Amino acid sequence: MSLITSLTRCWLTRSFRAFRFTDTFDAILPYQNAENLGLYIHIPFCRSLCDFCPYCKVTYREDLAKAYVAALKKEIELVGAGGSERKRVTTLYFGGGSPALVVNEIGEIIETVSKYFEITEGIGLELHPSDVTVSNLRTLQRAGVTRISIGIQSFSDEYLEILGRGKLDCQHMFEALRSVPFETVSMDFIFALPGQTIERVKRDIDVAFSNGANHVAIYPFIDFTYTKRKFEKIPEMRKKKLLAEITEYCDRQGYVRDSIWTFAKPGVKKYSSMTRENFLGFGCSATTLLKDQFKINTFSIPDYIKQVENGLLPTALTLKFTSRQRMLYYLFWTAYTTRVDADAFYQFFGEKLTHCYGFELLLARMLGFAQKDGDCYTMTPKGAYYYHYYENYYTLSYIDQMWNLMRVKAFPDELVIR
Ligand code: SF4
Repeated sequence: MSLITSLTRCWLTRSFRAFRFTDTFDAILPYQNAENLGLYIHIPFCRSLCDFCPYCKVTYREDLAKAYVAALKKEIELVGAGGSERKRVTTLYFGGGSPALVVNEIGEIIETVSKYFEITEGIGLELHPSDVTVSNLRTLQRAGVTRISIGIQSFSDEYLEILGRGKLDCQHMFEALRSVPFETVSMDFIFALPGQTIERVKRDIDVAFSNGANHVAIYPFIDFTYTKRKFEKIPEMRKKKLLAEITEYCDRQGYVRDSIWTFAKPGVKKYSSMTRENFLGFGCSATTLLKDQFKINTFSIPDYIKQVENGLLPTALTLKFTSRQRMLYYLFWTAYTTRVDADAFYQFFGEKLTHCYGFELLLARMLGFAQKDGDCYTMTPKGAYYYHYYENYYTLSYIDQMWNLMRVKAFPDELVIR
């Protein structure tokens, strides 16, 4: 598995150089000239922990959450104070964990962000279904949140049970959504569960779109080495067929595919915290991507709080990119949106996409993975499937390796991913 990702890295970066993350980091982050900068804030608290979930989170404790929010605001101040003027950014997303467990503090966190950043396209926040109440939604709306994403996973009790989730109180949730409108209401689902047929996925999609959602995200189940799985994985061919059927169904219903796994009603602003050219991440485990670097904060909540209280950024590891590594990173995440704009590539790198990757683009077109539409390369359904397949390898070779280390060591010396 890692052989595939290693060969791809060597081929596309034109080098045998590994991704070397070290513990040295910039005290002042160079984001002032970054275009299309997004922000992300991680709130790592949950009422109870789901077996399948790979993210950095702990069970909610009021005292810890209070200390964490204070540290979070301090981290925003530390990063923001490094800029000379208020920086325009696209979006701010809150993820977790269950950010609504600190719902009354979301407004003051946004105020702290707004001292240093002008948010131009909206604020999104992830919600656990049990947090979708009229009171929470009103509080979030008053704080300035415009997009929400609800982690439903499935409307089927059987699947919720094997995922280690309790039953949903759908009627209360749907009523709350009817009472408090948001610009984007996304619902997240997991597919590739045992015995799952397209009819069952279609039912989830239909229930979502007829009860307040205008956007859905349908992710495959990813089997991280450190999460628990209580069921047999479905064969890859079955997964491939299901993804093709989901895509075809959403297309027939008139939903627009705005990334590999997300579909929206036409004209709806997408919910996506990850497809940005540049972003700053705040909170434990949050990542930052800039022109010259990728960095990740410590996963340890006590160490995060201590480091920030000492006036230091909580950065655990930093990768300083070579220009080809940055291009690979750029293309990987841009391709996630199913299209790569050659003009945007040129604006970002000052080099022509066809000069850098002309052969690969030609090959992608010949293999039927992409088609050219003006200055844009758009992924075909076949290309989207292979991207989805490769993304699985990438997640297991890179993210799993990094998160495994970060879960046990607050500040590792280095990490080399070959
Ligand atoms: S799936 Fe959501 S609620 Fe469950 S542990 Fe992960 S972040 Fe928490």
